[in-house]
Amino acid sequence: MSFHYVIVGAGSAGCLLANRLSSDPAIRVCLIEAGPPDRNPMIHMPFGLAALAHMRWLSWGYETDPEPQLRNRRLWWPRGRVLGGSSSINAMIYMRGHPQDYHDWARAAGPDWDWPQVRSIFKSLEDNRSIKDDHHGQGGPLTVSDLTQANPLSRAFVEAGHQLNHPENPDFNGAVQDGIGLFQVTQRDGRRWNAASAFLAPVRHRPNLTVLTKEQVLRVIFQGRRAKAVQLRDRTIEVLDGGEVILSGGAINSPQLLMLSGIGPGAHLRHMGLPVLQDAPEVGANLADHLDITVQAALADRTAIGIAPSFLPRAVRAAWAYLRRGQGEFTSNVAEAGGFVRSDSSRDRPNLQFHFIPAFLHDHGRSLSWGYGLTLHVCDLMPKSRGSISLASPDPMAAARISPNYLSHPDDLPVLLDGLKIARAITRAPALARHIARETLPGPAVTTDAQLEADIRARAETIYHPVGTCRMGLDPASVTDPQGRVRGVEGLRVVDASLMPQLVAGNTNAPTMMIAENIARMMLGRA
Ligand SMILES: Cc1cc2nc3c(=O)[nH]c(=O)nc-3n(C[C@H](O)[C@H](O)[C@H](O)COP(=O)(O)OP(=O)(O)OC[C@H]3O[C@@H](n4cnc5c(N)ncnc54)[C@H](O)[C@@H]3O)c2cc1C
Repeated sequence: MSFHYVIVGAGSAGCLLANRLSSDPAIRVCLIEAGPPDRNPMIHMPFGLAALAHMRWLSWGYETDPEPQLRNRRLWWPRGRVLGGSSSINAMIYMRGHPQDYHDWARAAGPDWDWPQVRSIFKSLEDNRSIKDDHHGQGGPLTVSDLTQANPLSRAFVEAGHQLNHPENPDFNGAVQDGIGLFQVTQRDGRRWNAASAFLAPVRHRPNLTVLTKEQVLRVIFQGRRAKAVQLRDRTIEVLDGGEVILSGGAINSPQLLMLSGIGPGAHLRHMGLPVLQDAPEVGANLADHLDITVQAALADRTAIGIAPSFLPRAVRAAWAYLRRGQGEFTSNVAEAGGFVRSDSSRDRPNLQFHFIPAFLHDHGRSLSWGYGLTLHVCDLMPKSRGSISLASPDPMAAARISPNYLSHPDDLPVLLDGLKIARAITRAPALARHIARETLPGPAVTTDAQLEADIRARAETIYHPVGTCRMGLDPASVTDPQGRVRGVEGLRVVDASLMPQLVAGNTNAPTMMIAENIARMMLGRA
């Protein structure tokens, strides 16, 4: 069991890396995933997303520490624990972020991360089945398409935005990001196109690629300062001379694994009784995430996806259309529409993102809400608050401590407050208002800024985009160099969302895949 490359975690980044690094038959690659294969049909039927929140065996199901600015609530943080990682449980929205994001990355991590370079990578990875123009790619492994059908309420949301002078945007990854519109999704023929479908399935037959599932890596083993193997429960997987261990466990697990392996803040590791191989204070630091608040309303009609006996005939038709033709309501990614706006005109890019759901959504879908409703999410795309990942215990099977520290920066609450007001205004525009019986959240009694702020503190949740906990950078304090190589040791990289020097103004799946492709090219000498 010796390999040139041992990749830990088969998520958005890990599946892509396994594909690229095993393209040379002489290179032996092992991809190790803690979760099971992605066989559950609820993963592949897009609307199954609603059921995935209940399938705890496919998610790490983390909880944060009590959040001081959010009334000491612990927030639920799902992360995929299955082949495909979080791309197997996410909402399938295809979003690259704003060019300005990557100008910022280039300042932090050098020109390989600037927009012209990453734009060409996004295009090369893409097989856009719906938009064929200079902004998009065809023939790549990642299928992107329009929704096969959108709920009329999602279209009403777009119209409502338009009525408030937010222009309709037919392509958030095109010439401009601002505006309101329907999202494009990582789906092929009405089915989820996760990282495993895009990158792993086509190459599973390669004799030089070994994929292990239901195997959790407990730590990296070093010889001197060089990574030589990874420890599983009952055996080790070794790296051949000159090879590498690559951590692609995501923004929570990769820094946790580094710390368990002796790389992290020295005092913290000693406190945990762990030997310190490399004192790296920034491991687990710089945690950034998109905090989100919703407006919800009960409908006067049955346009939405409802939980009600009257929805049953529609559900039967939807199941039939999905099974027969890969079409119908069960191809919905639930978060069908959305958009980007600036809370004030001085911003150099949109700093608020909407996600519109033609249904009630409570507690991430974990508690069912009867009836027909709508949910409009809004999140702060450029938060200044930073949190951390640290160890709760030296036991590798114990969850890490997640302290997002939301709203700890004084600039963040006002932005979310602006967002909540804009979201509310959109739900009150005529195109949506005619469907609505009454606002249920924040609710008509909540009107003043102080009340709305209290509402945010009481209800805000993650929209699932943690990044930055193994920040890459040109500066020596960064955890990795701009190629993901962990500073202070040899033969060890991190390649996943934890590398991001800062959040992108958008969802994080495609940017994580772009990171993996960019670094794979550097490793293969094809940059
Ligand atoms: C509910 C939800 C909805 C989302 N919606 C969207 C969306 O619509 N659009 C979008 O762009 N982004 C979305 N995201 C975010 C996006 O999916 C993630 O940012 C992205 O998938 C992160 O990729 P990654 O490779 O860093 O980590 P992941 O994809 O999470 O992969 C990490 C993998 O490593 C495995 N692993 C971890 N530790 C170990 C270990 N010790 N040993 C072995 N294996 C290990 C995990 O089980 C997992 O499979 C969503 C995320 C969630 C959770």
